[in-house]
Amino acid sequence: NVRLEDIKRRFNNVTAIEDISFEIPDGEFWVLVGPSGCGKSTILRTIAGLETATSGNLFIGDRLMNNIPARQRDVAMVFQNYALYPHMTVAQNIAFGLQMRKVDAKIIQERVINVARSLSLEHLLDRKPKQLSGGQQQRVALGRAIARQPQVFLLDEPLSNLDAQLRDDTRAELKQLHQNLAITTIYVTHDQVEAMTLADKIVVLNRGRIQQIGDPQSIYALPANQMVASFLGNPP
Ligand code: ATP
Ligand code: MG
Repeated sequence: NVRLEDIKRRFNNVTAIEDISFEIPDGEFWVLVGPSGCGKSTILRTIAGLETATSGNLFIGDRLMNNIPARQRDVAMVFQNYALYPHMTVAQNIAFGLQMRKVDAKIIQERVINVARSLSLEHLLDRKPKQLSGGQQQRVALGRAIARQPQVFLLDEPLSNLDAQLRDDTRAELKQLHQNLAITTIYVTHDQVEAMTLADKIVVLNRGRIQQIGDPQSIYALPANQMVASFLGNPP
């Protein structure tokens, strides 16, 4: 599980997030939503270890993570502006994190093929990133992160620079991937449709604070306040 206890992050005199507490059971898919600047990326970056909380505790699998550096956390993160290694093939990009960890070559090869298959990339394994479409590149970025089989998978608006059709396709693939692997996933988006279709639980944020946590149906049916209601498209 992933557990946040009263996490706060201040930048000089600006409070980016505060009172952030929740616990994600193993294997669930949670979605963080809220308007620009509400603190979504700060929460993900704190979990990944790219940001240090000003106060509060973060646990992954019941281990206190506050002082554990990013590279020692069993966490993989995919950003909106993912960067693939341009000189490597798709297969080499997907294998990269595993090679860094000195995983056995035969296991790497199997992993690469499985990941490529689950993201419809099998026929592209020998290409270089610049020979791929934007959606294909984004799927390689997802594959590279997931190939490590991390304990926690963090995604910060991974579909936002894809066109509508590719977004739909990639979203469906991501959902399938999660159903197959059951890795605890935290997904950031400001897209309500994405939140409603992907989430086991949605966390709605505004101005650095949690407004409501619930499953998509109950949040939609019973929004805790006006902000949640209007954000999820169900104004009174
Ligand atoms: P968006 O949807 O636009 O990506 P977000 O919900 O991801 O927004 P954050 O990036 O987490 O928002 O930012 C939350 C708040 O913290 C914002 O007010 C932002 O300006 C501030 N902030 C984030 N990073 C820093 C930083 N390094 N220095 C100062 N302020 C920061
Ligand atoms: Mg952000």
